[in-house]
Amino acid sequence: MGFYQKLIPKQSCVLCFETAKFCVCKTCESSFVTNDNRCLCCAVRLPSSFSLNFCGECLSHSPAFSKTYVLYDYSHACAQLIKQFKFNHQLCIGDYFAHQLHNLYCSIIKENGSYDAIIPLPLSRVRIKERGYNQTHELLRIIAKNTNAIIDTKNVRRIKATKPLSSLNLVQRKKEIKGAFSAQAMPYKKVLLVDDVMTTGSSLNELAKTITKVGVESCDVLILART
Ligand SMILES: [Zn+2]
Ligand SMILES: [Zn+2]
Repeated sequence: MGFYQKLIPKQSCVLCFETAKFCVCKTCESSFVTNDNRCLCCAVRLPSSFSLNFCGECLSHSPAFSKTYVLYDYSHACAQLIKQFKFNHQLCIGDYFAHQLHNLYCSIIKENGSYDAIIPLPLSRVRIKERGYNQTHELLRIIAKNTNAIIDTKNVRRIKATKPLSSLNLVQRKKEIKGAFSAQAMPYKKVLLVDDVMTTGSSLNELAKTITKVGVESCDVLILART
């Protein structure tokens, strides 16, 4: 056995430990749900019997972004994988997701034209300190490497550290996130906002509101998973 073969263990699936080409095996990958019947605006899953293209929430309070593109449902094996990526900082999982997001991004711009910039949802300094990094930047790594997209992490800042939104209801979330971002004037008309998991969309909606106030005309959203 050569030196490197001894050093590098055979790649195995981080979910089921079976042999895998990447960090997730084909069987686990095929269990990730990518439901097509979603609200065109916020990507929430709609019942299959539902004939409208938008959910009730978007119809009554339309968000500041126009469309949400999503890779997965935040459920089962996929939710586990995202948790492993976010909280254990497993680099190979970030790499795997970054490749999947890159594929989706390429098909989006092929169909609808490109964006003037991509803006990842800014985290508070406290949260970055806790985690050691902003995982959304890692999700954008392959897009940054393989495309000429501008990834702007300078013009928008998080100016308010919010409580974890997961413990709050929709009304409390909206209140908590209000005024959380500040944006400098930017030369973009069409922007793509990126985050890992969207639960209610309150943070992304607040970010979209903030940047439309400084001259951005339209925002779409790209997320890894939707709850
Ligand atoms: Zn597996
Ligand atoms: Zn909706």
